[in-house]
Amino acid sequence: MAKKNTTNWPLAPAPESKDHFKLKPQYELFIGGKWQKPKSGKYFDTINPANEQKLARIAEAGEADVDAAVKAARKAYDNVWSKMPAAERAKYIYRIARLLQEKARHFAVVESMNGGKAIRESRDVDIPLAAAHFFYYAGWADKLQYAFPGKNPTPLGVAGQIIPWNFPLLMASWKIAPALACGNTVVLKPAETTPLTALLLAELIQEAELPDGVVNIITGAGATGAALVNHPDVNKIAFTGSTGVGKLIQKSIAGTAKKATLELGGKAANIIFADATIDQAVEGIVNGIYFNQGHVCCAGSRLYVEESVHDEVVRKLKHRMKSLVVGDPLDKNTDIGAINSKEQLGIINKYLKIGQEEGADMYQPACDLPGKGYWCRPTLFTNVAQSARIAQEEIFGPVLAIQTFRTVDEVIQKANNTPYGLSAGVWTDKGSKIFNLTTKMRAGVIWANTFNKFDPTSPFGGYKESGYGREGGVHGLGAYLNLN
Ligand code: ADP
Repeated sequence: MAKKNTTNWPLAPAPESKDHFKLKPQYELFIGGKWQKPKSGKYFDTINPANEQKLARIAEAGEADVDAAVKAARKAYDNVWSKMPAAERAKYIYRIARLLQEKARHFAVVESMNGGKAIRESRDVDIPLAAAHFFYYAGWADKLQYAFPGKNPTPLGVAGQIIPWNFPLLMASWKIAPALACGNTVVLKPAETTPLTALLLAELIQEAELPDGVVNIITGAGATGAALVNHPDVNKIAFTGSTGVGKLIQKSIAGTAKKATLELGGKAANIIFADATIDQAVEGIVNGIYFNQGHVCCAGSRLYVEESVHDEVVRKLKHRMKSLVVGDPLDKNTDIGAINSKEQLGIINKYLKIGQEEGADMYQPACDLPGKGYWCRPTLFTNVAQSARIAQEEIFGPVLAIQTFRTVDEVIQKANNTPYGLSAGVWTDKGSKIFNLTTKMRAGVIWANTFNKFDPTSPFGGYKESGYGREGGVHGLGAYLNLN
């Protein structure tokens, strides 16, 4: 059936094919270079959130499995990886990058099937960026002395890495690539709702003939993550996820020698000045909050518009929202795919209700939603109070809260008035305003006249409750090294 967005242009379906690969019915744990059945004996199903169909059965790692993975990583660290000349390590990492590029289409389709994100995003953003991170860090492996002149960089040992479901493969590459380049070995746990591309990465790592145990990939939910965090032989924890779990992790490792980087929640302010190119800014707002279903820690979920252009921005934004296509993630026309899980949809719907109860005005375009699966229309709220929960708390969905401002000082104060500080955006014609704002805003990344742009060379991380430590760029190397 031809798809309709609310501007009523019929769009012929353009689904990406999935005939070129087969998923296994069941995935085991990737430990010591082999696929091992879980000692826990437990499995769980992973589904496609766009149609609620089961994709595969996934092993659930218990404490004994976590222990086996950490032991395999330690053995590989002691006997092979830490002893290997850095230029040799780099060759393996380059090999992973090249294989990822070769298999990009396969990875993109599986990412969209398991995570719900539009194929346009996984094909054009997630997978190419994941490969780019492996290329980038492969290049650093034998140049660590140049990255830190006057220091003697040495690896930390075994890194335990725990990642969320919003960018499954990209987060895995953010974590694995710098760790390997610096000479560490890893145990990575993907999120329970999106294990598949990490498991495909394990297959690819086997194909790249990485020495056994250098990368171990174990699946499971929070208890598996907690067992990894608490394992006494892990030297470093790298975590991306919710602020709540980040705080738990901080508590568990307090008083130990474990190092940690934590990339947690966000509530990014996107600031539009009257002198901005409004049409371009509207596109940036849409990119910042609606593409990817708002499943981005750095999503521009709070919009501050200079009062004189508020009505124009809101009118243009509503018009643009009407042409957004919500639906099958594998369709190349789709702008907004499925919400990742029933639980997450429940959280988003709870906030939609809270927003209305708080007195804000809610707008959603009247687009059709598929019958099965987890879906949310792009949503905006106007008349939002600064103290409103929808303006303060992370929603992690395609929900935008719009407020106005009159002066630069006012908007800086409002933008900084949140427990988070991961990212922000500013749209203006004036370079001086950009520099003024970027020096005063407490956010790890500030985009100027663009939004949600990533590059392996540029560090990413937060202020305040958005976490600490940086990933990406040279800073991302420092997080995996002793620098004496
Ligand atoms: P999100 O809200 O993005 O799902 P979570 O913090 O719940 O974020 O999950 C991020 C990752 O942390 C997932 O891989 C999840 O399984 C893992 N996790 C959840 N609880 C814990 C915990 N107590 N200790 C360690 N890892 C955990």
